[in-house]
Amino acid sequence: MSTKVIKTDCILCVWGCGINAYVEEGKLVKVEGMAEHPLNQGSLCPRGKALVDYVYSPDRLKYPMKRENGGWKRISWDEALDIIATELQQVKDKYGARALAIFCGSIGVENNELAAFARRFRGAYGTPNFLSVESNCYRSRILAHQLTFGTFLLEEPEKARCVILWGHDPDNSRPPLASKLYQALDKGLKLIVINPKRTPLAKRGLHIPIRPGTDCALALGMLNVIISQDLYDKEFVEKYTIG
Ligand code: SF4
Repeated sequence: MSTKVIKTDCILCVWGCGINAYVEEGKLVKVEGMAEHPLNQGSLCPRGKALVDYVYSPDRLKYPMKRENGGWKRISWDEALDIIATELQQVKDKYGARALAIFCGSIGVENNELAAFARRFRGAYGTPNFLSVESNCYRSRILAHQLTFGTFLLEEPEKARCVILWGHDPDNSRPPLASKLYQALDKGLKLIVINPKRTPLAKRGLHIPIRPGTDCALALGMLNVIISQDLYDKEFVEKYTIG
């Protein structure tokens, strides 16, 4: 049996890690991280590693299903579209188009197509209400980076002497960063991990397992020591910070 290896990327989150997808007779049989990809350099997080299960999961929703008598019944696409169109029209007639809000997961690169269709649908229906995770998730981080640094930076732990991972578990959420951290640790990077969980990286540094919900107390305590013991660069703080 011939196996085809397709170079592509994982679209389960915004990082778009490079993958080698192994296909046999039209079926995906295995995925592995693409070693030559500059971002993930061969690593994949648990979600990426489970891509085959994701594609062929028996629980995957592939057809319209209608709730009926406490259970779910498969219906045709025409039937589903008729039901949805009728009910959306009823909402519009009774309350006006603005009564409808459309929620779309991410609007980032991994979900561009769906987000574009959702916006087109919003325009066709006539409502301005469009929501996405961007208002409370990754976009906030991008905005904070832009306001603080003037741009969106990618971390370069190889250039740092000490890194603090605060409530962050890159092994599970951001393998490309985890790989860079392990390489930097091998070269002498100091690592402090503030996390109730003993994450894989916590084993390689100073682990501070604070109780959940006490982050603010710890941060204020650290600030108190930094200020009272005069451990900060006054000129830098004066020039670049406010408040
Ligand atoms: S971090 Fe995980 S889910 Fe995200 S693109 Fe990479 S492998 Fe996929």
